[in-house]
Amino acid sequence: MKFGGTSVGKPERMHQVKDLITRDNQKKIVVLSALSGTTNALVGIGEALADADKELAKKRIDLLHAHYLIFYKDLLKSDSARKKAEKIIAEHFEFLNIILKISFNEAINRDILAQGELLSTKLFYTLLQELDIPAVFLPALDFMSIDENHEPELKKISEKVKSILKNYPEESIFVTQGYICKNHRNEVDNLKRGGSDYSASLIGAAINAEVVEIWTDIDGMHNNDPRIVDQTRPIAQLSFDEAAELAYFGAKILHPASIWPAQQYNIPVKLLNTMEPDAIGTTITAKEQGTGVKALAAKDGITAIKIKSSRMLLAYGFLRKVFEVFEKYKTSIDMITTSEVAVSVTIDDLSHLKEIIRELEAYGSVEVDQNQTIISIVGNLIAESKGSVAQIMNCLTDYPVRMVSYGGSRHNVSLLVDAQYKNAALQSLNSGLFEW
Ligand code: ASP
Ligand code: MG
Repeated sequence: MKFGGTSVGKPERMHQVKDLITRDNQKKIVVLSALSGTTNALVGIGEALADADKELAKKRIDLLHAHYLIFYKDLLKSDSARKKAEKIIAEHFEFLNIILKISFNEAINRDILAQGELLSTKLFYTLLQELDIPAVFLPALDFMSIDENHEPELKKISEKVKSILKNYPEESIFVTQGYICKNHRNEVDNLKRGGSDYSASLIGAAINAEVVEIWTDIDGMHNNDPRIVDQTRPIAQLSFDEAAELAYFGAKILHPASIWPAQQYNIPVKLLNTMEPDAIGTTITAKEQGTGVKALAAKDGITAIKIKSSRMLLAYGFLRKVFEVFEKYKTSIDMITTSEVAVSVTIDDLSHLKEIIRELEAYGSVEVDQNQTIISIVGNLIAESKGSVAQIMNCLTDYPVRMVSYGGSRHNVSLLVDAQYKNAALQSLNSGLFEW
């Protein structure tokens, strides 16, 4: 059971989490994020230190500290629990204040970022102790690890976590941190922003859990972006492939990497709402159900690159050469469309755009369009349903579409539009593809 930042962000919410994990006696690992806002604040502290602005860093540390000094008093009642919390908070903020005095580097920055989950889990554990709820504190740094390519070491994680759990055959609640891990240098590291979902899914896979529950503040994955279109509804069931597509292309509720461990070990993932615990939410399993469009998601900040060359005509090996350029600069490609004399691809990481363009120019003329948005239309058997593509295109008669990718899988049609058309296109698709 993983609870996100907003689910632990207020003392009363933490109490709700306590209620949710004690609703039954099943054995569970509880994975917590940092309190909402904390990781952002820690990023800010790191940035100030990177700029050698110690005054600003100190201000930010004090501001965050003040937040915790109010939080624990509302969370805990007894003197002894409050004393414990005071000690925990003092320890972590002392650490941040010591960092002010030493020279800053990337490893220290990652130590800073880890403070959020350490604080949230320790405070939550203190609450359980205060209420005499038996539980085990399971430090993620004892078992979560990534290799030199930043990939989680699932086999090692599994061995370690299982051997720790063996020591507690009678206990049923284990509390651990999302997001944080050790890297191959044995330093504190993390699974990138939003990585607590990934932690939960890795742990689920590591222990072969019955289910991975991701508890957030919305009732499951919705069929469109509620911030943009006038109405949306939660989707009850998705396949792993559909969910991965949606998570990657913009549905903020789930970290996209968290699908593969669950998929590989065939563990259902449920997206549930802490505020409405009995709502059905979204269940993600291997099963492919229904036909037709289930949901839309959009991803901004996309750049399209077109490489046009008459040498592509009747040639083989051209695409390989093009892709090798992206591989060399570790830049992943999202969409691809081809014609006989040109190929268009999209990327979202612009760190090596200049070098990539320079190298591609050896193979043909290169055109770049920035500020594009991928709209991903996801569902089951879209490619096999009669008329589905016509229906999608009919919704887009008022907007130029730069690329269309269709047939790559049975679950998806992707469109590329200029960012200025995104909202209108999402709304038009929302009205045209779903029955309201
Ligand atoms: N606390 C981390 C973040 O804000 C990890 C997470 O919440 O998933 O990115
Ligand atoms: Mg999240």
